[in-house]
Amino acid sequence: MTLMGLVPAKRSDTERKIASGLRTGWIALGTLLGLIALSAALVLAFERALVVADDLARQDERQRVQRLLDRSMESAVGAQLGLINWNEAVMHAARAPSDRADMAWLDREFGTYAWQMFGSRDALLVGDSGTVIREWADGRPVQQSDGGELRQAIATLIGRSYASAGVLGDQHGWAAMAAGQRWPVERNRMPLPRWAGGLVRRNGQIGIITVASIVPDQVVGPIMARPAWFVSVRPFEAAQLASMRRDLLLPDLQLDRERPGAGNAIALRALDGRPIGWLRWTAKSPSPAILRSTGPMLWTWSLLFVGVLIGGIMVLRRSWWITRELLVSEAQARHNALHDAMSGLPNRVHAMQRLRQDLAICLGDAKAGDVFVGYVDLDGFKVINDTQGHHVGDELVRQVAIRLRQRMPESDFVARFGGDEFVVLRRAVGGRAMADELGNEIMAVFAEPFAISGAVLDVTCSCGISWGPAQSEDPGELLRRADIALYRAKQRGRARFRRYTRDMDASVKLRLELERELRRAVARDELSVAYQPIVTTASGEIVGVEALLRWQHPERGAIRPDLFVPIAEQGGVMIALGTWMLRRVFAQCRDWPDCDISVNLSPIQVMSGGFLATIAEIVAETGIDPARVVLEITEGVMLDRSEHVLGVLGELDRMGFRIALDDFGKGYSSLSYLRLFNFERIKIDRSFVSHVESDGDAKAILCTIAALGHSLRMKVVAEGVETETQRQLVQAAGCELVQGYLFWKPMPAEAMRDLLDAPTATPRLLRA
Ligand code: C2E
Ligand code: CA
Ligand code: CA
Repeated sequence: MTLMGLVPAKRSDTERKIASGLRTGWIALGTLLGLIALSAALVLAFERALVVADDLARQDERQRVQRLLDRSMESAVGAQLGLINWNEAVMHAARAPSDRADMAWLDREFGTYAWQMFGSRDALLVGDSGTVIREWADGRPVQQSDGGELRQAIATLIGRSYASAGVLGDQHGWAAMAAGQRWPVERNRMPLPRWAGGLVRRNGQIGIITVASIVPDQVVGPIMARPAWFVSVRPFEAAQLASMRRDLLLPDLQLDRERPGAGNAIALRALDGRPIGWLRWTAKSPSPAILRSTGPMLWTWSLLFVGVLIGGIMVLRRSWWITRELLVSEAQARHNALHDAMSGLPNRVHAMQRLRQDLAICLGDAKAGDVFVGYVDLDGFKVINDTQGHHVGDELVRQVAIRLRQRMPESDFVARFGGDEFVVLRRAVGGRAMADELGNEIMAVFAEPFAISGAVLDVTCSCGISWGPAQSEDPGELLRRADIALYRAKQRGRARFRRYTRDMDASVKLRLELERELRRAVARDELSVAYQPIVTTASGEIVGVEALLRWQHPERGAIRPDLFVPIAEQGGVMIALGTWMLRRVFAQCRDWPDCDISVNLSPIQVMSGGFLATIAEIVAETGIDPARVVLEITEGVMLDRSEHVLGVLGELDRMGFRIALDDFGKGYSSLSYLRLFNFERIKIDRSFVSHVESDGDAKAILCTIAALGHSLRMKVVAEGVETETQRQLVQAAGCELVQGYLFWKPMPAEAMRDLLDAPTATPRLLRA
C-alpha cells in the first residue's frame, strides 16, 4: 500500500524535473539558434556594408573622374577667353567669308596662337551654320577645308551650346537678338560666350573638342545675329592624364582602347555616344581599412560569440544529459518499484495492477473471457532453505522464475509475490477447463528436477487457481481465493493444483471458528487425553503408551487432532494446549505401573522461549520421573533454527527425558537428521508402514532405516500396524516395537490404567 502510494508521487516529481529539464534544453537550444541566426545576419550585414562602401567609393571615384574630365573641357574653353571674348576677333570673323578678310590676322591670332598656347592640333573658325571659315592643323592653315570628319561633331556641339546653355562666366540675364533669339548676358549687359565640349576620335587618337562662340568684349551696337565659333581639338594626352592622376589621387589612372576587365573605369564616349576609350584605375576600396579599424572589435565579438556558443552547447549538453539521467533513473525507479530484485520478475504491486487492468477489460467486454490467477507455492521450500542454505533457496527461486517465464506462454503474466510464492495471470476463455489447463501447465514446469550448485533437487509446487470476473470482480478477493485453493492443494498432499470452489471458503470459515472454539475448549476442559499402547513386535507385551490429545466438541462431536493441532499451531493456541497436555499427562501417569510414557511435542512448543522452564516446572509440580517420559518430536523441529533446537534437546536430555524422532518417512526425511541428535527411538510413519505390503522397495528401505537406527543404538518403532502381514514384515525388517490397531486403539486414561494394572492384560494378537 505504502509502496503503491509512493510510486506515483515519486514519478510526478521526476516527471516535473524531466519536463523542466526539457524546457531548459529547448530554451537553451532556441537561444543558441537565435544567437547563431543573429550572428549570421550580422556577418551578412557587415559584409554587405563593406560591399556597399566599396561600391559607393567606386561610384564616387567615377563621378570625380567624370567631373574632372568635364571641368577640363570648361577650363580649356576658359583658357581661350582672351580669344573668343574680343571685339577685334568678332570683327575679323565677321569679315572673314568675304574678300575683305584679313587671313593673316586670323592665322596669327587663332591658328598659331591656339597651337602654341593650348596645343590645339586642329583649330577651326566656323560660321553659325557650321560652314568652315578657316581651318588650321598644328597651327598652319589648311587650304580648301570643309572641316572633314569634324563637321558633324561641330554642328552637334553648336546645337548643344544653344540647347543646354553652356555659358562661360556669370550670367545675369538674357539679351534679345535678331530673329527673336536670346543671348546670355552679364550684369553690364555684355554678351557671354556660349560653349560646348566633347570627345572625338581624331587620327586614331582621342581628342577633346570644344566649340565656343566669339562674342564682343565691349558694347558695340546690337549683338550680331549669328556669331562665329572657334573650334579647338586637343589630343587627350599623357600630360592631361598625369594632371588628372595628381588631382584625383589616382596614381595608376590609364587610358585604354579596349574595355578593361578589372579595376574601376569610365567610358570615354564620342558625341554620338559610342565609347572610344576607357579611363581605368585601381579602385580604392575602403573595406580593408574598415576591417582593420573594426578588427579588434570583431575579434572581441567573435571570441564572445564562440564563448557564448560553447557555453550554450555546454548548457544544452548538460540539460540533455540531466534529462537522460532522469529518464534512466525514472525508468529504473519505475522498474524497481514494479519488479522483484532477485528474480527480475514483476512484483506483487505490478501483478495487482495488471490483475486490476485485466479484470477491467474482461468486465468491459463479455467476449474477453476471464483472468485466471494461478497462485504457486513451492513445496518444502523452507526445508530446502534450512537444510541446504539460503544461497540454494535463492538460486532455486531464480531458476523457478526463469523456468516459469520460459515455459509459460508469452502472453501469461508471471510475477513473484515474495519468498517461494509466484503468481501467473492469464487472460483466456474456458472457465474450469482453462483453469485445469493452466494448472497442468504450471505443474509441468516442475516435472524435471533443478540442478543447483552441483546438487539435483526434485522440487514440486502446489497451486491454487481462481478466475474472475466469473468468481469475483475484486482483484484482492480473487487472489485470496487462489490462496485458499492453494492451501487446499497443500492440505491434499502438495504437488498438485486445486481450483477454487465455494465450499473452500466454508472450510476457511470453519477453521476460524475452530480456532476460536479451541481457545475456549482449553479453558472449559473439553479436552482429554487418550492413550495407545506401544508393544513389542514379537510378543505384543506393552512396554509404553503414547498420549494423544482428544477434543470432544459439545456440538460438533469428536474432532480429530490431525485437524485441530495444525489449527492450534497456526492460531497461536498450541503453546497453551501443549502445556495443558504435558501437565495432564504427567499428572495422570505419575503413578502408573512401570512403562514408557510418550508425549507429542509440537515444533512451536520446542522453539518457544520458555519451554524448558515450563517443562521443568511441570515436572516439579507433578513429581513425574523424566526418565519415564519419551518426548516425540517431528522432523519439522529439526528444520528450523536447528542450533537453538539442538540446544533445547540437549537440555531435555540432561534433565533425563528421552527423545523420539516421530513420523520418520513422512515428508522430507533425511537420514542425516538421525546423526544430528542422539535420539532414543525412531518412529517410522504409518503411511510408510502401509506401503510395506505392496511395495518391495519400501520393505528394503524399512530394513535400511532399522539397520541404521540400530547401528546408532536407537529403538525402531513401526506406527500404524493394522494387519498381521504388516506386523510380520516390520518384524522382519527389524522393528522391535510396534503401535497399531492390530494391538490396541487409543483408549481413555482409565481404560489404559486398568489395562496396565491387569496382570492378565493380553493384546488382541495374543488373545486371538
Ligand atoms: P502421531 O503422533 O503419529 O500419533 C499416532 C496417530 O496414529 C494417532 O492418531 C493414532 O490414533 C493413530 N494410529 C495408531 N495406530 C493406528 C493404526 O493402526 N491405524 C490408523 N489408521 N491409525 C493409527 P491421532 O490420535 O488422531 O493423532 C493424530 C496426530 O495428532 C498424531 O500423530 C500427532 O501428530 C497429533 N497429536 C495428537 N496428540 C498430540 C499432542 O498432544 N500434541 C501434539 N503436538 N500433537 C498431537
Ligand atoms: Ca506421535
Ligand atoms: Ca507418528
